[in-house]
Amino acid sequence: MDTNPSAADLIFDRIDELAQLSENPNHLTRRSLTPEHQSANALVGHWMQNIGMQVHTDAIGNIIGRLEGSDNDPNQAAMLIGSHLDTVRNAGRYDGMLGVVLPIMCLEHLQSHGETLPYPVEIVGFCDEEGVRFPSTLLGSHAIAGTLKESVLQELDADKISMQEALNAFGVTAPIDSATRQPGDFLGFVECHIEQGPVLEREDLPVGLVTAISGASRFNIKVIGKAGHAGTVPMGLRKDALAGACECIVEIEKLCTSLHDLVGTVGQIKAKPGAENVIPGEVSFSLDLRSSDDNHRAYATAQIEEALVKIAKRRQLQITVQNTYSAKGVRCDSWLSGQLGNAVKSAGYRLHSLPSGAGHDAMALASLTRVAMLFVRCKDGLSHHPDESITKEDALAALNVMITFLRQFELDT
Ligand SMILES: [Zn+2]
Repeated sequence: MDTNPSAADLIFDRIDELAQLSENPNHLTRRSLTPEHQSANALVGHWMQNIGMQVHTDAIGNIIGRLEGSDNDPNQAAMLIGSHLDTVRNAGRYDGMLGVVLPIMCLEHLQSHGETLPYPVEIVGFCDEEGVRFPSTLLGSHAIAGTLKESVLQELDADKISMQEALNAFGVTAPIDSATRQPGDFLGFVECHIEQGPVLEREDLPVGLVTAISGASRFNIKVIGKAGHAGTVPMGLRKDALAGACECIVEIEKLCTSLHDLVGTVGQIKAKPGAENVIPGEVSFSLDLRSSDDNHRAYATAQIEEALVKIAKRRQLQITVQNTYSAKGVRCDSWLSGQLGNAVKSAGYRLHSLPSGAGHDAMALASLTRVAMLFVRCKDGLSHHPDESITKEDALAALNVMITFLRQFELDT
């Protein structure tokens, strides 16, 4: 491959530069439509302009650059590549930003070798993927896909500023639907993102090909027993809601472990009345279920419900399961992923495919165009944390794969 190792230094320099644009001087927090987000857009727009891209900010605050192909036809469908520029609070610096910096570097590299692609490329820095500021998430990609509901403009942030007011302050005044693009605008969408999990480390690989983005279901499970005196009620006569909930949680863990391609997490639990000397009478706990296969998720839900009914009966408890959130999984496009996978192999790496347990902008864009994703190994699988890190070698590997993909991309395969 003809990339120079110093390209990795530049990737890191740019990611570090973006990481300076933070609402908090001590750590990286950059919520969407803040002045810091505006600065990040300006910086990315500057890099885009330096390689001759036509740059604009759309009606939701996405920054988009377009570089024409050899036909110089502004109506030709473009390959869309990008990721998000917003962060969670106290974030890492690679989640999102790597996927914006990397494609810009790809185009720079091709230009420096005098290469013009036969098709246009658009690079996008999405305004909001993390959903930290407003209740809704994936705002930028939903707006482009035309699936953003007009009503989200009235959503308020913690300071009671509406999204519409935030957009006005950001200097974006165009109607929101003007951000919507048409399926014919794009050849596909490719996102490069850190893995946020430990699989590539285990496989000893710098990059991996994403097969699908997992669908998710969330539940609130309530267990009702009978509160009582910790000293006077004999063990055999108790209806201990917390002990029952614990059995449920262990059973859920067992079921999720036994099923293929599924993860389940109980992350919250509350016990009432919550006193040291009282048998808990009521417990509620959360359950988050994810799978790249919606059928697996539905099967697991049914299995868990069946198991909880048995536990409730045996322990004489009342257990109710309330579904609070559901999102379908999104399969990456086999044609586009096939080409990205070929690029991984051509660049000299073993191809390993894996699902994404975390949500990404590609989920929203899948309703508009074909999507594919490349994961990059990150240390200890850690993300959403200041210690999030990748190596320069892996950044260079991802750059090589993406350059190879752009060079080898064929429309008619
Ligand atoms: Zn991300």
